[in-house]
Amino acid sequence: MTKDILVFVEQRDGHILPAALQAITAAKELTATTGGRLTAALVGSNLSGIADAVAKTGVAAIYLVESDALGKYNAVTYARALASAVKQADPQIVLMAATSMGRDLSPRVAIRVNAGLATDCTEFTIDDSGALRVKRPIFNGKAFNTVHFNPAKVQIASVRPNTFGAPADAEGAAERISVAFAAEPGDARSVTKEIARTGGDEKDVTEASIVVSGGRSLKSSENFKILYDLAHALDGAVGASRAACDAGYQPHSRQVGLTGKTVTPNLYVACGISGAIQHLAGMRGSRRIVAINTDPEAPIFKIADYAVVGDLFKVVPAMTEEVKKARA
Ligand SMILES: Cc1cc2nc3c(=O)[nH]c(=O)nc-3n(C[C@H](O)[C@H](O)[C@H](O)COP(=O)(O)OP(=O)(O)OC[C@H]3O[C@@H](n4cnc5c(N)ncnc54)[C@H](O)[C@@H]3O)c2cc1C
Repeated sequence: MTKDILVFVEQRDGHILPAALQAITAAKELTATTGGRLTAALVGSNLSGIADAVAKTGVAAIYLVESDALGKYNAVTYARALASAVKQADPQIVLMAATSMGRDLSPRVAIRVNAGLATDCTEFTIDDSGALRVKRPIFNGKAFNTVHFNPAKVQIASVRPNTFGAPADAEGAAERISVAFAAEPGDARSVTKEIARTGGDEKDVTEASIVVSGGRSLKSSENFKILYDLAHALDGAVGASRAACDAGYQPHSRQVGLTGKTVTPNLYVACGISGAIQHLAGMRGSRRIVAINTDPEAPIFKIADYAVVGDLFKVVPAMTEEVKKARA
């Protein structure tokens, strides 16, 4: 086993996910202690353009698992592909983003390479034995779990999105290494027939560093336009409470909470959301929370960093104007 750290760089349709680049930043900080190299793994088809972009982050080598069979994400084939890259690269540590794909893939890869695994981590250090030690929030962010890895095994951890920033640009002279991949007969039973992309060009709530969410009080899907205006001005995404999604104001793909998505943006703006525990479960890990609510006793104010007691239909457009002025 080398002392290298391998980062799986998640990409979709040729675009690298910001969370994947943040995992490279986490890995860069660790390589300063381990003394090994920072390497990357890419899985998919037509990877050369993406590899050029990854090279600019300063990785020493990029392991490319390239095949037409990997054009679309499939848990079984991607796990086999990434496990092959891990075996060939022989790193001490593997990092990846704690996205939907990361959650799906990390245990499958860990079992294939006989590695230890910790998911959704926010702090990474190397202990005296040279092994990875991570912290991960548990019980909806109310406590932290510290995980010590076995240094004799490969150590895999996923990095919670928006915990680290994007890596600084560096020299792009990374070595490209091909990893052999061949489709297997068993893959056929799990081939994805169709992937329906929802939400158009709008950002997904789990990927945005700013999320503007609305509740039942928006009263219609048309009224959500004021939230989209603010989200666009901030380069963020729009989320919603379950009550708003159940009422049909927004698709369930935008629902934040216990039965929706967990978000950890730098800024979460809750507009007309009461703050039920099931909603808090999905957003209390946000770095800064702004809540706008007409009810000064609304539970959301208990966890908000900034509380605006007022009518969202007046406050939100005023905020959008101020953001636009500040950015002009
Ligand atoms: C098993 C289970 C799972 C659940 N999962 C989720 C989940 O994943 N996500 C989720 O969100 N919920 C979930 N819920 C539902 C949750 O309990 C709440 O019912 C829901 O979050 C309430 O949504 P809301 O805040 O939009 O609506 P409400 O609770 O009706 O709150 C509306 C808020 O808007 C304020 N308001 C009204 N008008 C204005 C105005 N003009 N300007 C400013 N503020 C205004 C009101 O004061 C109020 O606080 C779940 C429930 C259960 C039982």
